[in-house]
Amino acid sequence: MTLLDGKTLSQTIKNEIAAEVAKRTAAGQRPPHLAAVLIGDDPASQAYVRNKVRSCEQVGFQSTLIRRGADISQKELMDIVIELNANPDIHGFIVQLPLPAHLNENEVLLAISPEKDVDGFHPMNVGLMALGMPRYLPATPYGILQMLERYEIPTEGKNCLIIGRSNIVGTPLSLLLSRKGYPGNCTVTLAHSRTQNLPELARQADILIAAIGQPKKITADMVKEGAVVIDVGINRVEDPSAQRGYRLVGDVDFENVAPKCSYITPVPGGVGPMTVTSLLLNTLQAAQNTTTRPNAT
Ligand code: NAD
Repeated sequence: MTLLDGKTLSQTIKNEIAAEVAKRTAAGQRPPHLAAVLIGDDPASQAYVRNKVRSCEQVGFQSTLIRRGADISQKELMDIVIELNANPDIHGFIVQLPLPAHLNENEVLLAISPEKDVDGFHPMNVGLMALGMPRYLPATPYGILQMLERYEIPTEGKNCLIIGRSNIVGTPLSLLLSRKGYPGNCTVTLAHSRTQNLPELARQADILIAAIGQPKKITADMVKEGAVVIDVGINRVEDPSAQRGYRLVGDVDFENVAPKCSYITPVPGGVGPMTVTSLLLNTLQAAQNTTTRPNAT
């Protein structure tokens, strides 16, 4: 069994990004600049955004954090998006989800300029990805593709079961892994809450990707001997012995599943760090796109 070490791999990729940034600045170009919009005080969202900003600093990007209270109006948030779209200093930006319930998430996502949509959530970017002409891939699927590629895991003709059909993980990943090319050419099954016989389907999977959000849902009896298992889930479970009173576990019962696998991701330290690195790669891409456009500043 080989551990798919997202922590080490993401550091390797960050070093590569830092080298690209150094090349840009040596050539007299500005470093990539990412802005993050954080609304409200959800602790998980705060932690994610902090991590993104810190990662920007590590690779030499500029970063701007725009924080507003949970009582912000839709109009005020839309004005921030419009300002960021127009601001030539910002190469890409994200609006951290979920937004407080009174805000219209779809209206916000639709307003983000597709060129600056480094989360890859705008329908135009989703459409480009679906047609095999990607501009920005959504961060978590992109991170998983890189993991498969860097560990040289064969995907062609493999049965791949993806469990969870969210717009940010399962659905885009199902498109990407079934496309022609590498990593891809898989025979993909997309399972969800209404799927019947999940254990049976899971046992047929050469590559099993869990993005469900339920601790230890994937047990050893559901996994084929020699399978590649990628655990996207991040679940808090109570743990009085932990300093914070909880610890993070994935959707996979790691302890019992790992011995059956050829490759498996840990949680934490697997897909999570790769997701942040992918956002950096998209932002670097955004900066490079700006530089190569005629009349770019
Ligand atoms: P989600 O939370 O929006 O939806 C859960 C999905 O699981 C749904 O599509 C649902 O149909 C499916 N599901 C629920 N119960 C099921 C069952 N019993 N059998 C089969 N399918 C079932 O999905 P999400 O936003 O992709 O998040 C999934 C998990 O991944 C969460 O734990 C989230 O925190 C985590 N996540 C991690 C990263 C990362 O970077 N590591 C990124 C995004 C999400």
